[in-house]
Amino acid sequence: MSNTKGISISGLSKSFGESAVLRDISLEIQPGERVVIIGPSGTGKSTLLRCLNCLDRPDRGVIRVGDLSVDAANASRAEILALRRRTSFVFQNYALFANKTALQNITQALITVKGMPKSAADARARTILQDTGLLDKADAYPAALSGGQQQRVGIGRAMALDADLMLFDEPTSALDPEWVGEVLDLMRRVAEQGQTMLIVTHEMQFAREIADRIIFMSGGDVIEQGPPDQILSDPQDPRTRAFLRRVQ
Ligand code: ADP
Ligand code: MG
Repeated sequence: MSNTKGISISGLSKSFGESAVLRDISLEIQPGERVVIIGPSGTGKSTLLRCLNCLDRPDRGVIRVGDLSVDAANASRAEILALRRRTSFVFQNYALFANKTALQNITQALITVKGMPKSAADARARTILQDTGLLDKADAYPAALSGGQQQRVGIGRAMALDADLMLFDEPTSALDPEWVGEVLDLMRRVAEQGQTMLIVTHEMQFAREIADRIIFMSGGDVIEQGPPDQILSDPQDPRTRAFLRRVQ
């Protein structure tokens, strides 16, 4: 493959006990590409994202990000850390440290994942808070922030890592409706910067607007994929059609 700067996943499989959650998934993602994954719940979307970061350990599969290639089932601590330096994760429930301020949540990631000295991490985190419109919240703890602000910190933390691939797992689905817009706006800004993004979302309007490609997953398999118009307006597989009838 000529995709030397992008991401490739080959033969990724994962079971929990007897149940196969990912079945031999292979995907290529080009640099700067924005890929949206849709599909019913329980279908393995989160597990796929978590396996890319080895938050869940795959049973099989090779994950390549740029020039780093990892045999995921047998990855060493050092390889996992290298993978996490090149991929960053935005969680559905923000996953901020409750006992750290907005600023400290970002600096902590820079120190532990990137090995940045504290003063440099601090400066970088302040720049990110400025970019996300949260500089005035630098010293606020998560409990004092709205859901939208907490998720913007979560996205800021992932942006700060300057990763080759940003993973978003339903970043707006835990939010009250009033906060969804500001989080999607921030994601649009991330996209404008040319960031490669892999996004799981049920926001179909947003998916249509932001995605270069939409992947429909069901039962641990990729069922079909293509440009938003094709997948959302002219799906070929009956499972895709049934899913879209439910969510659109
Ligand atoms: P989705 O994100 O598409 O809703 P998930 O990847 O969260 O789906 O889950 C896929 C399946 O794997 C579900 O049946 C879920 O119950 C199961 N699963 C996910 N994580 C675990 C785990 N840590 N232990 C056992 N089963 C799990
Ligand atoms: Mg999920």
